[in-house]
Amino acid sequence: MPKITNDPDKKTWLPVKVDSDFPIQNIPFGVFLTRDDIVTIGTRIGDHAIDLGALHQLGYFEGIPLTDDIFLQDTLNDFISDGKKTWRLVRNRIGEIFDAENGTLRDREDHKKIVLFSMEEIEMQLPVQIGDYTDFYSSKEHATNVGTMFRDPEKALMPNWLHIPVGYHGRSSTIVTSGTPVRRPMGQTLPPGADTPVFGPSKRVDFELEMAFITTDANALGEPVPVDEAEDYIFGMVLFNDWSARDIQKWEYVPLGPFLAKNFASSISPWIVTMDALAPFRVKSPPQDPKPLPYLQQKEKHTFDIHLEVEITPENSVPTVVTKSNFKYMYWTMAQQLAHHTVNGCKINSGDMLGSGTISGPHPDSYGSMLELAWQGTKPLELTGGEKRAFIEDNDTVTMRGYCEKGGLRIGFGEVKGKLLPVFQPKKKS
Ligand code: MN
Repeated sequence: MPKITNDPDKKTWLPVKVDSDFPIQNIPFGVFLTRDDIVTIGTRIGDHAIDLGALHQLGYFEGIPLTDDIFLQDTLNDFISDGKKTWRLVRNRIGEIFDAENGTLRDREDHKKIVLFSMEEIEMQLPVQIGDYTDFYSSKEHATNVGTMFRDPEKALMPNWLHIPVGYHGRSSTIVTSGTPVRRPMGQTLPPGADTPVFGPSKRVDFELEMAFITTDANALGEPVPVDEAEDYIFGMVLFNDWSARDIQKWEYVPLGPFLAKNFASSISPWIVTMDALAPFRVKSPPQDPKPLPYLQQKEKHTFDIHLEVEITPENSVPTVVTKSNFKYMYWTMAQQLAHHTVNGCKINSGDMLGSGTISGPHPDSYGSMLELAWQGTKPLELTGGEKRAFIEDNDTVTMRGYCEKGGLRIGFGEVKGKLLPVFQPKKKS
């Protein structure tokens, strides 16, 4: 773990508000459009975005083995492919360049003009070209709640659940970055009591409070990644809203799992927070009983204490926080998910994304979806503006936030925000 960059006492010469998610100890990676409409790879400190392509051209990464154009790309995939040693060297160097004591860039007004941007003048892009996307189902509380509602409270967890990090292959083409609006999907549903389906707008659009991790090239085809090496192949994490249409899901999911109920859109936060930045917030995951098979067994601390919340803002109204959860509630760890995913030899590439599954906590105010919070529509939530919500309605904005905090150090993810638009209306021919 890079001790210097993570030192809670380290200060930067850039302004950083006390409650900022992006102190100099964070140094996330993202991709943005500059004020000159150029795509670049960057990082963020406080409310400044930093153009790493420009910093590299000015020679600030001298001595680190990087190709000349590594940051002049519209995705992080190649940089992620360079591996953990290189990510660390770059992150530590950024920590040095922006250290309060270091005048190299601080005292160069000409360089600062090229390198620094305010958050208002840039536009965040999708940080990686996501090759493959897999979504897990790793919260015991969530799986129990859904099993109770959709099947049988006595047998809420399927017999495999405590032995396998259950997952399915999702679709990367519809993953969007924060701020991108999402359309209510059309689809087939089976109305209550009916025996034939109808076609129309989903009436039960939901969010799923998740986090996701981005991988580097982890293995060759046919070679598993051992659980105790898996974390070396995780570049970092983002907040993840896995939009879901519950009525479509309920009708289509047997026997092959979710399909059109999940692949109309999923939103991620634009800054990838590295595992090095999260290191101070490691905690133990919940005890696993029965003991998993040997290829999934882990010792020590393999999850992270990340506070999460979801806010709903109806159009022309005020926001309401509807749930507060924590990543540490997850039963299966990211390393177990990656070890399981590759145990058959499945290949994992740079820029793949693995979702945690909905992160529900033990209490009803910590559930990670409207399905659970309003218990299948039977207990609608009353919002601050007086609205009632069982699911997400047209023009509602859903915002998720996440941060870690310990001993005066706060490392956050910012937010992932998305507005649900009404169903697509084809233009009438004139
Ligand atoms: Mn999901």
